Amino acid sequence: MKLLKERILTDGKCFEGGILKVDNFINHQMDPKLMYAMAEELATRFAGSGANKILTVEASGIAPAIMVGYIMGLPVVFAKKKVPSTMEGVLTAEVHSFTKNRNYTMCVSSDYLHSEDRILFVDDFLAYGNAAVGVVELVAKGGAQIVGMGFLVEKAFQHGREVIEQMGIRVESLARIASLDGGVITLAE
Ligand code: 5GP
Repeated sequence: MKLLKERILTDGKCFEGGILKVDNFINHQMDPKLMYAMAEELATRFAGSGANKILTVEASGIAPAIMVGYIMGLPVVFAKKKVPSTMEGVLTAEVHSFTKNRNYTMCVSSDYLHSEDRILFVDDFLAYGNAAVGVVELVAKGGAQIVGMGFLVEKAFQHGREVIEQMGIRVESLARIASLDGGVITLAE
């Protein structure tokens, strides 16, 4: 998506260890117009997917997910990264966070994930695919089905796409980064 790629080149910043910081339009300060345009693009790509629910992970996935849900007219559920003591019938998966270099327990209440659900997972970044694999586990525990995964930014050099596609899941992303080597952002196409 041209608009996002241009914005990444203008405002994105590279950090040690292959991290792209997009704090002034996605992850801290947010640009609602760009967020809406990105959500429209994901909604268009997944229009025929048969999704009946959007799933994301707190915190940074919530903004794009709620916009996709708004446009597609679907409810949005976010997986939490800490199991609340009051949550009943909790579905969990252990996930390794690449940016924070620690593990966390991703969880969703079984009240919001049912066997008839057809899930579209939406997140800000696809890196190694660890969060996505956790989501696959959660959705399987709920007996539901995944119809696709949509990301704003894909770091192609970390190969999360291969992991997800090997599970037979459709992946869409709006900007693919080929490399952040030497502090230079190189787009994949
Ligand atoms: P994965 O689970 O695919 O390895 O990593 C995806 C998750 O880690 C995303 O939910 C995102 O929040 C975070 N993440 C991974 N790489 C980056 C990055 O380069 N920049 C930012 N801002 N977040 C990232």
